[in-house]
Amino acid sequence: MSVVTRFAPSPTGNVHVGSQRTALYNYIFARQQKGKFILRVEDTDQNRYIEGAVENLLSSLEQLGIEFDAGPGKEDDKGPYFQSERNEIYNREVQRLMDQGHAYRCFCTSERLDELRKEQMEKQTPTGYDGKCRSISSEESDERAKTEKFVIRLKIPKEGLCEFKDIVRRDVKIAWSQVDDQILVKSDGYPTYHLANVVDDHYMEVTHVIRGEEWLPSVPKHLFLYECFGWEAPQMAHLPLLLNADRSKLSKRQGDVAVEDYLKKGYTPDALNNFLALLGWNPGGKNEIYTMDELIEAFDINKITKAGAVFDVQKLNWMNGQYIKNMDVEKYLKEARKWLGDLKVNEDKLDIALMAVKTSLSTFQDVPVKLAVFTGEPSAPEAEAKEMLELESTKLVFKAYAEKVAKLDDLKVDDFKVIMKEVQIETGVKGKNLWMPVRIGLTGEIHGPELGYIVEYLGKEENIKRIMSYKL
Ligand code: GLU
Repeated sequence: MSVVTRFAPSPTGNVHVGSQRTALYNYIFARQQKGKFILRVEDTDQNRYIEGAVENLLSSLEQLGIEFDAGPGKEDDKGPYFQSERNEIYNREVQRLMDQGHAYRCFCTSERLDELRKEQMEKQTPTGYDGKCRSISSEESDERAKTEKFVIRLKIPKEGLCEFKDIVRRDVKIAWSQVDDQILVKSDGYPTYHLANVVDDHYMEVTHVIRGEEWLPSVPKHLFLYECFGWEAPQMAHLPLLLNADRSKLSKRQGDVAVEDYLKKGYTPDALNNFLALLGWNPGGKNEIYTMDELIEAFDINKITKAGAVFDVQKLNWMNGQYIKNMDVEKYLKEARKWLGDLKVNEDKLDIALMAVKTSLSTFQDVPVKLAVFTGEPSAPEAEAKEMLELESTKLVFKAYAEKVAKLDDLKVDDFKVIMKEVQIETGVKGKNLWMPVRIGLTGEIHGPELGYIVEYLGKEENIKRIMSYKL
């Protein structure tokens, strides 16, 4: 049987990084198994719908290169499939459950349910529906339905254990007594998540449900639904939670949580995919940089971990820096140019300036900050830098450097290394005492972008002028 996975978000806001990881795992697994990955928008809860959420969803997936397929038997229609357009199917299926006695109308008012909850809390007994309407006869139920509001509930077994296998959690046991008579259809006639999700997973021929751990307690309801419908349940894998650095649940209060926030800050889609893919699964070994194809090749659904995974922004910064560093030059220059903001850089030499900072960026947002060294006067050297300038050897280095630069027609990145080698041979000064004073002499700073590019950016005259400005 060919594998079908799905990403089934509810359009209730911008895509969360945890959701994106879910999408990614479903996508990677489907691609690895040469199966299909479908996108289903679970939008039956009209109250929670947020304007623009679907657009955000599609744009986040597109920017991260996660492409979805047409489901089995839907060759021309790639979706996304919207649950709000499938109400007829849910109504038909819930009617089947009612006819078989697996579901019943519940006429309890919200006041009664609130009262019940209050009592249960006072008595410190588990909260949940007490089954009052379970025993209403079908005749009475049909009659009352003509005039009264109702919801439809699932008649959950009340005894014993629900035992099932989860690919991540292995053998899971949940007592039926802990499972509520789930509402399947709300009083507005729309299905709840639980009904629509199971019906769709069946008709969309989903073979593997890969989703967040928060859905684990819902599995018994779903399995019971599959049983009542006489359908085979898909395999399930519940992914570990994403955590803040202090191991609390990842939250907005401690940093950004939307994929869009990270894209806006200049994280690359490849780095985000790489980073998210390793939150909850690890191929082992030291390498941490994986292209999408390598992830697809290495992924092992059986090795997803149970323990929560820390969303470590420092690590993401490092990884993103690696991606920028190794990025194809043309692609890099094109992208980096988008991040200049108001910075005024000599257009002719912009590419050299951008190349100079390529290896020192964590995100593209750093571009204007790192380029500042090119746009203004060199900074006044700080104490440590001054000390370097005062070394006897610095005099020799500066003199030799200026002489050699003066002899050239032009000054290019590649010339710089050659000159420095010559300066080293001529003066006998090596290592830090050779390189650092030149950097300080040219920029006023101890650290900074790659010196060869700075040298080319400044040009012959400016190189000599800056170096000679130190009256040594
Ligand atoms: N609509 C659910 C969500 O927003 C889907 C959960 C599932 O994958 O079954 O997370």
